[in-house]
Amino acid sequence: MLLETLSVFPQVFAPYLDESIMGRAQRAGIFRFAAYDLRDWTHDRHRTVDDAPFGGGQGMLMKPEPIFEAVEDIAAQGEERPHVVFFSPCGRRFDQACAERLAERERVLFVCGRYEGMDERAYELADEVLSLGDYVLTGGELAALVVIDSVVRLLPGALGDDMSAKDESFSSGLLEYAQYTRPADFRGMRVPDVLLSGDHAAVDRWRRESALERTVRWRPDLLDSADLTEAERDRAREIACEIESVRADDTKDEDLTGGASDGES
Ligand code: SAH
Repeated sequence: MLLETLSVFPQVFAPYLDESIMGRAQRAGIFRFAAYDLRDWTHDRHRTVDDAPFGGGQGMLMKPEPIFEAVEDIAAQGEERPHVVFFSPCGRRFDQACAERLAERERVLFVCGRYEGMDERAYELADEVLSLGDYVLTGGELAALVVIDSVVRLLPGALGDDMSAKDESFSSGLLEYAQYTRPADFRGMRVPDVLLSGDHAAVDRWRRESALERTVRWRPDLLDSADLTEAERDRAREIACEIESVRADDTKDEDLTGGASDGES
């Protein structure tokens, strides 16, 4: 897979992508990476990539000409035209399904904004526009690194053990189950006995229940689209009630303590 970035800070990518799993995957030929400098497609002495917005307002916008020239030039190189991804807080929210979709491609070019963003016409070049989430970064470079990292670890061989990306959070629509390593007893916090039992079927059942429990507790919004049996949906409702009643008890306790201290003061 060929992954490319276009930005005004092309040097920020290598320090991350040359290390650890990303570095190993590059050396193993699992993906190739190239970072292009947008300023190489400017024609003035100052290598200008930005200009003031029409209609007034704060900050500077990225000019359309260098972006068009760069994307067209880069796309014309090589046999395969790249899938072109732009970044913007106004884009579609990036998620694991999107990472899986991108991992199927042969070539992806990520175009990173800076300043107040881009002249709207630049988005004509985008096959898709992605956002990392509902917050504003100073530039698209971090967004590109996040997306590249999540895509590369899905490529066959990248993690060493092909199974390890399989039952992670989001892969089945649920969060990942709780995991433990040695020691079995740490400061009185014991690892659940079933995980030490060697009974694989029981371990699988416990893990599914744990994934369900964690999803109900932390990300109930995922449950609607998760792949669950009817029995699991019933169990999810039960867990939600259990969590709710513990919360209600906690609030009652707080009210009582609050009342008592009020009385004393
Ligand atoms: N004025 C814009 C924000 C520009 S931030 C607005 O209010 O929508 C500058 C650049 O950082 C953007 O062009 C984009 O490439 C990147 N960026 C900022 N926040 C991002 C996010 N949540 N997801 C992806 N990219 C983001």
